[in-house]
Amino acid sequence: MSKQNKLPLAFWIFIGLLVGIVAGLGLMLLPNQSGVSIAKSYIQPFGTIFLNLLKFVVVPIVLFSIAAGVVSMKDIGKVGSIGAKTIVYYICTTAFAIVLALILATIAKSLHLFPALQTTGLEYTPPEGQSLMDTIVGIFPSNAIQPLANATMLQVIVISIFLGFGVLLAGEQGILAAQTIESFNEVFTKIMDLIIRLSPVGVACLICPVIAENGPSILSQLALVLLTAYIGYIVHALLVYSTTVGALGGVSPAKFFTGMAPAMMMAFSSASSVGTLPFNMECVEKLGAKRDVASFVLPLGATINMDGTAIYQGVCAVFIASCYGVSLTLGDMVTIVLTATLASIGTAGVPGAGMVMLAMVLQSVGLPVEGIALVAGIDRIFDMGRTTVNITGDAACALVVSNLESKRESRK
Ligand code: ASP
Repeated sequence: MSKQNKLPLAFWIFIGLLVGIVAGLGLMLLPNQSGVSIAKSYIQPFGTIFLNLLKFVVVPIVLFSIAAGVVSMKDIGKVGSIGAKTIVYYICTTAFAIVLALILATIAKSLHLFPALQTTGLEYTPPEGQSLMDTIVGIFPSNAIQPLANATMLQVIVISIFLGFGVLLAGEQGILAAQTIESFNEVFTKIMDLIIRLSPVGVACLICPVIAENGPSILSQLALVLLTAYIGYIVHALLVYSTTVGALGGVSPAKFFTGMAPAMMMAFSSASSVGTLPFNMECVEKLGAKRDVASFVLPLGATINMDGTAIYQGVCAVFIASCYGVSLTLGDMVTIVLTATLASIGTAGVPGAGMVMLAMVLQSVGLPVEGIALVAGIDRIFDMGRTTVNITGDAACALVVSNLESKRESRK
């Protein structure tokens, strides 16, 4: 990342995070919410500029790196092998996450740690739902440009894979296209490096307004619900990612979490998996993941793998049920595991998306969607943690699949 700096970039991002948090706490104390408006008017715009730059680079990065990855694999079957391993890892870890969340939330509920909030007069209108079939149809683009312009990630992934396949099948005629893709891949990686150098300032400007605005709510009535979700996030990350990267990824857990620190801090301050994607790619490659694998596994994960979101949905479902005086049966819990796994796949990697998908989980067990209003006010604080878990899960998968693929190749 920054070879010329004596201290690693992770250190400066950490300092940025601290400065942002301290400044946010300072602004929070100013009278009449004036600190919040200062943060929003003068600091947030710089955070937005940084996030915009990351979002701008993410589509070309995904497009060229996946296409280059497929071309370098020289084998369409290998894409299938990586894809299958990735999907199995993603689905198993997400299902585990939601089971863990339900266990933790049920314990918290039976210890009477959740507040009994009033449910009368709540309002929340969920946006128009999409059926599962619509979601599947939506993966396939009907236009080559629109998905790139709208950053519709799954469609961009499909385009990149086809582009790679086309180059491979074209043989000699495809050589120029292959070189062009490889060259653009290199160029956009360099642009990404430049943008990532701005991250200490970017992270500070992203986190400061969030703390100034949401700081007091950490001490709200919902503190213990937040705490339950955060315990779920931490236990899941330590248990599942440490074990899988240690046993299958060939990387020690300590090295994994240290190497992932920049991406995790970025996810925490931006609450956007897609915005964090460029960081995640750098971090996993430094940890030893192969580029062709990482460039396929990570963008896919940023769109469909959301373990943190699943944990949040499990905890909130139990909490909302308890406010409505409903006890969830074992059957309800199984339904929640299934729907939350699907809901987290359908969640976009942008701030707040997980809360919208919570409606689907609540509906599946007959809970009123207005219950979302109980947790909506502090969604950002849930979101910072769940996004951090989401991207860490993607990275763990990239290391595991990369290591398994290397072993498969050496066996051949
Ligand atoms: N913000 C999350 C992410 O980008 C999605 C969510 O809201 O759960 O991963």
